[in-house]
Amino acid sequence: MKMPKSIKMYCPYCKKHTMHEVERVRKKKASEFKAGQRRFRRVTSGYGGFPRPRFEGREKPTKRLSLRFRCEECGKAITRPTQRAKKFELLEAQ
Ligand SMILES: [Zn+2]
Repeated sequence: MKMPKSIKMYCPYCKKHTMHEVERVRKKKASEFKAGQRRFRRVTSGYGGFPRPRFEGREKPTKRLSLRFRCEECGKAITRPTQRAKKFELLEAQ
């Protein structure tokens, strides 16, 4: 999937169509202080091992992309999942 670096779309903060900068959202390293990570550490510690059976199988050929659109007027960003794609590329602006 190819995507221009900036697109014109609706900004719910400005309540009109403005130019938005497109940015790919990548998975962050899990924080050790978040509830889910604390629970995971507690459950995996000691005797008993991993709480869920590890999923074994083929990886999906496509991944659903998460994109962040940042309004160039107010600077606020909206993150939304988009369509599935094998690879993702941002096109340089002409
Ligand atoms: Zn805006």
